[in-house]
Amino acid sequence: MMKPRYIRVIIDRAIHRELDYSVPETLLERVSVGSRVRVPFRDKSALATVVATLEQSEAEGIRPIEAVVGDTPALSEQLLELGNWMSTYYCCPIETVMRSLLPQVIRRGEIGWKKQLFVQPVRKVDNDEVEKLRRRAPRQAELLEAITQLTRPVPAAQLLRTTALDNQTLRALVKRGLAQLSEDAVERDPHADEQFIATTNLELNAEQALALKQLTDALDALERAESARPILLHGVTGSGKTEIYLQAIHATLARGRSAIVLVPEISLTPQTVERFKGRFAEVQDAVAVLHSHLSQGERHDEWHKIHSGRARIVIGARSAVFAPLRNLGLIIIDEEHESTYKQEEAPRYHARDVAVVRAKIEKCAAVLGSATPSLESYYNATIGKYQLATLTQRVDERQMPRMRIVDLRQERRKGKAIAILSDKLRGAIADRLEKREQSILFLNRRGFSTSLLCSNCGEARDCPNCSVALTFHRHVARLSCHLCGHTSTVPKKCPACGKDALIYSGFGTEKVESTAAQIFPKAAVRRMDADSMTRKEAYRETLRSFRAGKIDILVGTQMIAKGLHFPNVTLVGIINADLALHLPDFRAGERTFQLLTQVAGRAGRGETPGEVFVQTYTPFSPSIQFARHHDFAGYFQQELEFRERCDFPPFKHAILITARSAHEERAKFSAETLVRRLKEALGTEFILSEATPAPLEKMQGQFRFHILLRGEAIMRLSRLVRETLDKLPFPEDVTVTVDVDPYQLL
Ligand SMILES: [Zn+2]
Ligand SMILES: [Zn+2]
Repeated sequence: MMKPRYIRVIIDRAIHRELDYSVPETLLERVSVGSRVRVPFRDKSALATVVATLEQSEAEGIRPIEAVVGDTPALSEQLLELGNWMSTYYCCPIETVMRSLLPQVIRRGEIGWKKQLFVQPVRKVDNDEVEKLRRRAPRQAELLEAITQLTRPVPAAQLLRTTALDNQTLRALVKRGLAQLSEDAVERDPHADEQFIATTNLELNAEQALALKQLTDALDALERAESARPILLHGVTGSGKTEIYLQAIHATLARGRSAIVLVPEISLTPQTVERFKGRFAEVQDAVAVLHSHLSQGERHDEWHKIHSGRARIVIGARSAVFAPLRNLGLIIIDEEHESTYKQEEAPRYHARDVAVVRAKIEKCAAVLGSATPSLESYYNATIGKYQLATLTQRVDERQMPRMRIVDLRQERRKGKAIAILSDKLRGAIADRLEKREQSILFLNRRGFSTSLLCSNCGEARDCPNCSVALTFHRHVARLSCHLCGHTSTVPKKCPACGKDALIYSGFGTEKVESTAAQIFPKAAVRRMDADSMTRKEAYRETLRSFRAGKIDILVGTQMIAKGLHFPNVTLVGIINADLALHLPDFRAGERTFQLLTQVAGRAGRGETPGEVFVQTYTPFSPSIQFARHHDFAGYFQQELEFRERCDFPPFKHAILITARSAHEERAKFSAETLVRRLKEALGTEFILSEATPAPLEKMQGQFRFHILLRGEAIMRLSRLVRETLDKLPFPEDVTVTVDVDPYQLL
């Protein structure tokens, strides 16, 4: 059979079309779908990915490719298929999708393997020879003894470290012809310095065993080449979901397949990594970890470790859903409700949804786990699209924490200033300090004061680039914008009226920390948020001291809300439960319920039952009441009715289009023109909003207008939007973005 002589490629630049090239005889063997190639493009050369091999091509002026990059195709056909699906579904050019499918370090091919010097013996050396050398050069003799014992080459640096000898000594031995150095590629292992203690399977309770069986049944179904429905594992906080994941992975490896575990970036703590590396200690090399703190070199090595088939388990944040594992058997999406799975730049994909599609393409099992499943996923389980597995009990029969609601309106009626810590919460903290137990105080807002107002003219200090107030950060004594990062000094007088009448209002975690430290001067108070955790190590250090009991009160944002497991924490204080409730977003209620349940779940994970205080001005809001009673079913029913009434997901898909420009009029005009064109294209099947100023009208110096589309047939809607946009030329200074299944409506 004649091999195909032509290929169709997508080059790395966005030109919105595929190109055909011919393949020289000498390269034929090495090219297939998914290969990376270097091709001539206009008068330069470009890197590209092969998407098809052809026997003929109709294209004119076909040129031959210049080279093939890499020994084997970088992308499997399944991953390419996934890329095509993403391009259509997310209304996004395939070139942009490619940026996610292949990490930059692999696409550019600029970083290679790290080279290291290895040392090995040259010939057998007897004792006499060593002793003779010892008289003249004792240190060389010592090193020579160590080298003679080597059975394989070891890194020179490592040998010198263990023998406490220096490079000069080694060089001298090489010169004498007694040792040999060679350069070889090594892997950069981000966890090389860590020790992982091997752990064994924990005993499962009846509910856990049942859930695990559902998972292994799904794996068995795959062996019989049957497809498996995704499984939604709904387990209350502390119910031992991770143990089920670990044992399911074990079962997957035993069937000769590989597994991906997705966790939200903020949950990718040393604690999590340790747990997985520990359980699979005997195959430790087979576990690859992908997260945003990796250096480009480490990323390169981890990718190749996965691509070459050496790694069989991948743990990572969002982008790990594209890990090039072969023979995939299982994808786990932990904390599937987390909004960090949604990428907020193009391609704007949701890793959970992409994972479910990948599982379908690769014919593998998918497990979505959460204590507070997203409305979309739970709905899918109720209509039978997903299988449901439920854990209603905490492990070791631990109690769910008791939730107490503190009505801040009453505190205010008592004539107090804005309560940061109510009397009840204060009392509870004091009680914990006495018993040497730990407390967590949670507030979803950074900084000291959230705005600086003039009491004379009422003017607030807003960011010059965005329509939000600047936040005051006391430890750096500056005002800063949490949207664009703009910072400025704190004015002494009001810049608008010139009066010395500036007042701070609203508060963030920094203020909570200082208030707690003031009220409890003997307690060790620490804060954990994006401001205090700028150093990579700070996070780990704080967690370590908290675990060791050196911190009594930990104050923090979302960073402390998820996945952490500290047995000595018996109290959680939620400083203001209303923050998420009042956002102009149809998910506001869902987010509040999830946040309260997750934060509360940090309490009482040890022997002593936990207690949670929820401070709020709206004590009777349904999200707060349902969370208080740990009533997921009640909350789900109520929220679902609201979504159905208002035509929101899961009943309708949504697409958010944003037109932005530094010129307000142009952004507005473009959005309005687009609405007119969409009206013609879409007909009556879909719901189309008018062009409206975004809730955050101005961000990073750009004026923003929104168009919201809703409908059931999302693939059709995406295609129609794409076609309409392609036909419409926008002014150069107007940017239009499309977000399918949006999570940010601001
Ligand atoms: Zn003023
Ligand atoms: Zn700003």
